[in-house]
Amino acid sequence: MSIRVIEEKCVGCGLCSRECPQSAITVSNKKASIDKYKCVFCKLCVSTCRFNAIEVFSQRQENTEAISEHKGIAVYAESLSGKFNPVVFELLSKANELAKTTGEKVKAIVLGSGFDEKDLSLLKKYADTIYLVDNPFLKYYRDDVYSAIMAYILKTYKPSVVLSGSTIRGRSFMPRVAIELETGLTADCISLEINEKGNLVQTRPAFGGDLMASILCEHTRPQMATVRQGVFPVDDSINKNGVIEKVDVPSELFKSEMEVLEFHPCFCSDVNIADYDIVVAGGRGLKNEKGFALLKQLAELLGGCVAGSRPACDGGFIPHSAQIGQTGMTIKPKLYFAVGISGAVQHISGVEEAELIIAVNTDPNAPIFDIADYAIIADAFEFLPALIEKIKDKKFAKK
Ligand SMILES: Cc1cc2nc3c(=O)[nH]c(=O)nc-3n(C[C@H](O)[C@H](O)[C@H](O)COP(=O)(O)OP(=O)(O)OC[C@H]3O[C@@H](n4cnc5c(N)ncnc54)[C@H](O)[C@@H]3O)c2cc1C
Repeated sequence: MSIRVIEEKCVGCGLCSRECPQSAITVSNKKASIDKYKCVFCKLCVSTCRFNAIEVFSQRQENTEAISEHKGIAVYAESLSGKFNPVVFELLSKANELAKTTGEKVKAIVLGSGFDEKDLSLLKKYADTIYLVDNPFLKYYRDDVYSAIMAYILKTYKPSVVLSGSTIRGRSFMPRVAIELETGLTADCISLEINEKGNLVQTRPAFGGDLMASILCEHTRPQMATVRQGVFPVDDSINKNGVIEKVDVPSELFKSEMEVLEFHPCFCSDVNIADYDIVVAGGRGLKNEKGFALLKQLAELLGGCVAGSRPACDGGFIPHSAQIGQTGMTIKPKLYFAVGISGAVQHISGVEEAELIIAVNTDPNAPIFDIADYAIIADAFEFLPALIEKIKDKKFAKK
């Protein structure tokens, strides 16, 4: 669905602008224009306009012919300081699997600054073509400039499918790209397949995880989806020898409304909980700083990392980048230690593929025990210090 002002009919009366609850309409030179990033398609402007100068229309009819022009499966190769996010290789592996069905090529899209040869050579293994925009202006991530350049690349090379990690960045700028291209975007997919008509079947949890929705984007292109890290495995057997194609981007796209004053790497850039075999997670049951300090001690002793449920992150005890669940990370550690976590479906969906789950909870009926391999009914404030002491003793005894 899209919305537009029919210029011939618009008299610039400004009624639509005054009525718009999103402040998405401005009038200049006696013509209204709609900011598509602000518009939520409430259609109030359509019913308000006395001149029938605003219309909502479907891309369906307009894009049917153009669909066949789109070919290839593209992956946004997210990077920080020249290093690629691990989800990129998972998505490229999936893209290669999908490409076997469609007979298309796999493309990686790289935006940033200062890539070293070694990193790009790793990408070459997984993609037939690497579209590279290496420019100092892209050193720091900015939504507006990244989405404008990404949209330009997708309009130019017309891939049929575009995948991105459901990272903070992917969640932030891929919706803007989808709006720019007037196509759909399915967030947080857990399965991607090509159906008999050659369309991408994008499956994701819906209604709080109670059911799985399979979503198609049949009438517009590209078909866009984001996927969290850890959902698809990396296929080490892929051994392409992709070519790097430097993309010439129009200079007017290198402009941003944001000015980066300083950059401070945060916890999320240093610790990726999906990389750890042992994850020790805490929930609301840990109550305070003291509880999370115990959790950190345990994680250090086990050689793991600390993660949390959404209330633990919202409470500021754990960074949001270490949140597990439907709106956080999906992980598959060898050991998941859940302390003071009730086990809501939205949490469990991020960790149900852990090899071993140990849960500590005072409530014997806590749902987390339904998926736990070991259920410890105990008060965390008694159990954790005792366990920490035991592990310390054992480690000491071994030396
Ligand atoms: C659309 C949507 C998306 C969501 N996404 C996520 C998500 O990604 N991740 C997520 O985690 N949640 C998510 N949630 C929230 C989710 O529904 C739960 O509210 C949340 O997971 C509960 O967190 P919790 O287990 O820490 O807290 P609670 O449910 O409050 O559980 C605390 C547990 O601690 C136990 N406890 C209390 N004291 C102690 C003690 N001293 N020792 C041991 N145990 C104790 C209690 O018995 C209880 O079981 C989402 C919700 C919605 C609606």
